[in-house]
Amino acid sequence: HAKRTGTHVATYQPDLLRQDTAVISLEADLYRAQERGELELFHQPIVHAQTRALVGTEALIRWHHPRLGLVSPAQFIPLAESTGLILTIGAWVLRQACMHLAEWHRTHPHLSVSVNLSPRQFWQPDLIGTVRDALEVSGIPPEALILEITEGVLMDIPDAEATLRALRDLGVRLALDDFGTGYSSLSYLRRFPLTSLKIDRSFMDGVTGDDQGTPENVVRAVMLLAHALGLSVTSEGVENEAQANFIRSVNGELLQGYLFSRPLPVQDLTDTFLR
Ligand code: C2E
Ligand code: CA
Ligand code: CA
Ligand code: CA
Repeated sequence: HAKRTGTHVATYQPDLLRQDTAVISLEADLYRAQERGELELFHQPIVHAQTRALVGTEALIRWHHPRLGLVSPAQFIPLAESTGLILTIGAWVLRQACMHLAEWHRTHPHLSVSVNLSPRQFWQPDLIGTVRDALEVSGIPPEALILEITEGVLMDIPDAEATLRALRDLGVRLALDDFGTGYSSLSYLRRFPLTSLKIDRSFMDGVTGDDQGTPENVVRAVMLLAHALGLSVTSEGVENEAQANFIRSVNGELLQGYLFSRPLPVQDLTDTFLR
């Protein structure tokens, strides 16, 4: 295992994944992480592009590993998926996110929460029941919950359309995450009952606000396409004012990124944005 460096939170070293013993150990660690309370749900603000008012958050999981420090979800979500642990972790995330929102709703009832769903969660028999439970336990209105799915769900899950319709029938909203990084075609965008698109962060990287730049033209085209299909657009990875202003100028509805805030623990988000 990687050593912790001083009092710093060491980042998990990806090359450990190549050592079988490390993988097995990390897998065993992940099994126990939940009962030991090592998982924590952070939230990143999502703001209105015109007013910059907080409209909601995206829930993002964190793992405080006792020896490795903070392990990134990019590293342990794949492990959770391959082991099936994502089912219990995913159910926990849904419940936690809805409970956090229920608390915020006492003073800010217009807020929403977005929760990432792994394609693997669509293979379980009772995803609908899991979502319904989270809504019931927390008491939040279904339309305040946005489920973020990736293009892989639309492509690979046999009865994705029926499952997504059943979720929509519960009243929750559906966002297509990481838009532009997969294979989604126009026909998918039309066929599935989506409510919004999230333009992947990689598209924002080249955006400087240059009126005729290629990245700007691509983002503008995605906005037109999404709006033509009746979908609202959240732009991820907004890191500077030029990007935020550009998205506003092309009628992007919502913004998310370090310009506004990094993902925060619940209490920090409450203190910073909801007082
Ligand atoms: P994602 O769903 O695309 O989430 C957005 C990621 O972009 C987050 O990384 C967030 O911290 C990061 N980000 C936000 N704004 C900026 C910015 O302005 N600049 C840069 N450079 N990055 C920004 P994070 O939290 O490390 O999560 C990584 C991925 O792990 C997520 O990507 C998502 O695919 C997955 N993930 C996180 N939490 C969960 C979960 O509860 N369930 C599932 N299934 N997947 C999750
Ligand atoms: Ca997401
Ligand atoms: Ca995303
Ligand atoms: Ca992404």
